[in-house]
Amino acid sequence: MNTLAQFIAGCVPDYHPDALPVDDARRIAAGYVMPVSEVERLPIRAALDRVLAEAIISPIDVPAHDNAAMDGYAVRAADLVARAAQTGPGAPSIVLRPIGSAFAGHPFDGLVGPGECVRVMTGAVIPAGADTVVVQETCQPITLPDGREGVLVAHAPARGENLRLAGEDLACGRPVLTPGRRLRPAELGLIASLGMGTIAVWRRPRVAFFSTGDELASIGQTLGAGQVYDSNRYTLHGMLLRAGVEPIDLGVVPDDPAALRTTLQEAAGHADAIITSGGVSVGEADHIRSLMAELGEVAFWTIAMRPGRPMAFGRMGKAAFFGLPGNPVAVMVTFYQFVQPALARISGETRAPTDVALQVPSREALRKRPGRTEYQRGIVSRDPDGQSRVSLTGQQGSGVLRSMSEANCFIVLEHDRGNVAAGDLVTVQPFEGLA
Ligand code: AMP
Ligand code: MG
Repeated sequence: MNTLAQFIAGCVPDYHPDALPVDDARRIAAGYVMPVSEVERLPIRAALDRVLAEAIISPIDVPAHDNAAMDGYAVRAADLVARAAQTGPGAPSIVLRPIGSAFAGHPFDGLVGPGECVRVMTGAVIPAGADTVVVQETCQPITLPDGREGVLVAHAPARGENLRLAGEDLACGRPVLTPGRRLRPAELGLIASLGMGTIAVWRRPRVAFFSTGDELASIGQTLGAGQVYDSNRYTLHGMLLRAGVEPIDLGVVPDDPAALRTTLQEAAGHADAIITSGGVSVGEADHIRSLMAELGEVAFWTIAMRPGRPMAFGRMGKAAFFGLPGNPVAVMVTFYQFVQPALARISGETRAPTDVALQVPSREALRKRPGRTEYQRGIVSRDPDGQSRVSLTGQQGSGVLRSMSEANCFIVLEHDRGNVAAGDLVTVQPFEGLA
């Protein structure tokens, strides 16, 4: 395996650790980490949000038979065409003879002959001989002059209308899902529709994390002078669970090389990734940096972004290492922009993340300096004119966690962009999606 330095040289030829563009940092982090290799076989329900480790090939046609897409009558299209041609416009409508009915799960057990039809409900198998469904709204049951029942068809649909064809959803023998897919509710249903009961998924990565800082107090302690409660471990816990990994909380570690060494070594022994917050900024004691560099191969970056400039990335033993800044908003921004895509790769995901960034007009002017990517916290909502627009959530300091709580999106102001005028389009990354 490449060293980190070799990997970076191949990945980013023009590498400046002191002014690293966001895209380069993301590419290095997601490209350098290794996917887990152990597989677990789970019942379908337990596989929600896990990553598929096998190819799913359809063992059957779904649906298994041609069936009715609407309530109505199964007919032979040739009857309708022949009769319509015979009688011409203005002539009496087509009359067919009903010979039975079919419901979902209860097929009609006969053949539809010329001039005949079968009452069908949605989902019913199309009886042999029939090839089209006439919707019930354009049919009328009547009594013929000879006393027999008839069905008057006022409108003749084209051949094959209102049918769901066998194999239309999934054809037998075709690949349905490829390994590396994150399983959402739709995929659970898709797999169930094939009659499969269990799914092979990759083991969930174990991610150890801890906060560093002599000023940090834990919940239950009284705040001393200059102390703050440790909040990063709680946001990280939430973000890690949402990212589908197994979090391992190693608590708060003081800015003390011996304590840090012990904790980092313990983490490297059993985690697939290690995340720390605090202690990577330029002002922090050099012994922390040299310790990290000694325990593994770690690059220290100043990323051209705001918030979240300082960050360390590398490897300790077999574990990927992410040293995030201490500021609570910076922790969240760097997690979502760098750690999450890398964790997706460690989890075995192979599909490039869908870029759900939207272009939305800003309600207000935004200050922005070219030369760094900014992640301002925004609220996107629909105005009475039907247009979605985005506003800032007040104070944007990197310690103001309230700005994340009030926001429903990041307003991403790209590297080269300058000030934004009210009404200008800006890129918005929504926090929540449907599935
Ligand atoms: P650092 O990156 O260690 O210099 O920390 C930057 C700022 O973030 C300082 O004001 C810290 O007090 C604050 N901070 C660091 N870690 C945490 C944490 N776990 N919870 C809340 N605030 C923190
Ligand atoms: Mg600190």
